[in-house]
Amino acid sequence: MSDLRERALHLLQTIFGYPAFRGQQAEIVDTLASGGDALVLMPTGGGKSLCYQIPSLLRDGVGVVVSPLIALMQDQVDALAEVGVRAAFLNSTQNYEQSSRIEKQVRDGDLDLLYVAPERLLTPRCMALLEASKIALFAIDEAHCVSQWGHDFRPEYIRLSVLHERFPDVPRIALTATADQQTREEIARRLQLEGGRQFVSSFDRPNIRYQIVEKGNGRKQLLDFIETEHPGDAGVVYCLSRKKVEEVADFLNQNGITALAYHAGMPQDTRSANQSRFLREEGIVMVATIAFGMGIDKPDVRFVGHLDLPKSIEGYYQETGRAGRDGAPANAWMAYGLQDVVQQRRMIDESEADEAYKRIQGQKLDAMLGLCETIGCRRVRLLSYFGQDSGPCGNCDTCLHPPVSYDATVPVQKLLSAIYRVDQRFGAGHVMDVLRGIDSEKVKQWKHDQLSTFGIGSDIGEQEWRAILRQVIALGLVDVDHDAYNALKLTDEARPVLKGARQVQLRRYEKPARPSRQKRAG
Ligand code: ADP
Ligand code: ZN
Repeated sequence: MSDLRERALHLLQTIFGYPAFRGQQAEIVDTLASGGDALVLMPTGGGKSLCYQIPSLLRDGVGVVVSPLIALMQDQVDALAEVGVRAAFLNSTQNYEQSSRIEKQVRDGDLDLLYVAPERLLTPRCMALLEASKIALFAIDEAHCVSQWGHDFRPEYIRLSVLHERFPDVPRIALTATADQQTREEIARRLQLEGGRQFVSSFDRPNIRYQIVEKGNGRKQLLDFIETEHPGDAGVVYCLSRKKVEEVADFLNQNGITALAYHAGMPQDTRSANQSRFLREEGIVMVATIAFGMGIDKPDVRFVGHLDLPKSIEGYYQETGRAGRDGAPANAWMAYGLQDVVQQRRMIDESEADEAYKRIQGQKLDAMLGLCETIGCRRVRLLSYFGQDSGPCGNCDTCLHPPVSYDATVPVQKLLSAIYRVDQRFGAGHVMDVLRGIDSEKVKQWKHDQLSTFGIGSDIGEQEWRAILRQVIALGLVDVDHDAYNALKLTDEARPVLKGARQVQLRRYEKPARPSRQKRAG
């Protein structure tokens, strides 16, 4: 064993009390300690902190940790102090006197680790301080915040490239738990880490069971799921809007489940109070927007639910990753329906962003839809998105209850022609009425009962038609025109299907079943 490796192991055992390094930790520590740069992708709970804490102790000077999570700095510093590591933080919660004292410690070389928020780090005062001090390394935590495509984007992160320019000899490590290939490249480029080593750990979270169900009455399905599989367990339920967060929390409370709400529109003190109750008490369900969760370290979250579709697989992975950090069985459960597809597509269409941005958001959404509609193993799909090959897992809904797929070319042709026959000017409800031969007021008013397509789909029920339509939209054969009352429109991809030149394989709609109980280990 190299001398460096030996000293690192010694610190791990004597200070942190762990017998051995996990996964790639040892190699990452070596890289940093010997002055190299690194980009580290490790799932939540993988042990990222030690990757910069130990090299900071091995090298001269203070390790500077850039983190957006101000609320957690105190805890981190306290935990380090407990094991005898000299750590402090600089952030906006401190008064002038407090920060001056810490600045002096930095200058005098009395600290091993310093946590700083990015906006603070970038101030001339802080930059001058660092230039006048001995720096062991820079650690950039939650590095995906540098990505403009991600939902945690923080503009100050982009300016962190200044670290490389001002401190070319100080090694840097960027860490994140979530990044597809594109985000990875973006982090490396923006933080000028192209020359550094990349460490990509396995992203698999084998104890998480993935389930994606067809959405009917979402809230009711959620309640059923909690009552049958997770009575008394702590969980997080994600919703898209603040209003829905509050409604769902109320609904759960009315049905005997202790639920709290969390979203950015709530007063700061209510938010923090709810967050600390969730962390401290047992068995609370937190209903939240994606504002909740980054940096929340609660090991025994037994389930994460989604009542709305996440915008990307990265978001889904990050949010579901908050379940089961203790390694015990946990569930990632999502209810997903036609409305989700329509809504997400609309949000992209209506955003003010430029075309390039919209295109990338569209691709990310398509990958997410692919995960929802897959008839193969969810985990295989998820991991392959992060560039990892794997075999069917046996611990997701599609492995446990393989869905039935069928040749849906004929019903899809019927649907496409019905859309075409009503001049691509009507929404889902009306098109389905025409298909199923329902003579509604609107059908009569437009004389659509005289169309050749009227009633050609009466052999298929409404739910099944919805499932077909949802998949056809997910596949990109049909678009929803938000500028024209959500009218359904055929895309160029629809043509070969209509002509019979392309077959369409779909997933059979199944009635939402009561979820089966998952056995607990131990
Ligand atoms: P991350 O930041 O990647 O989510 P943490 O650094 O918070 O993960 O580590 C997660 C947990 O794993 C912590 O409780 C930590 O103490 C523990 N841990 C990290 N490395 C090791 C190790 N080599 N051996 C044992 N436990 C470890
Ligand atoms: Zn599987």
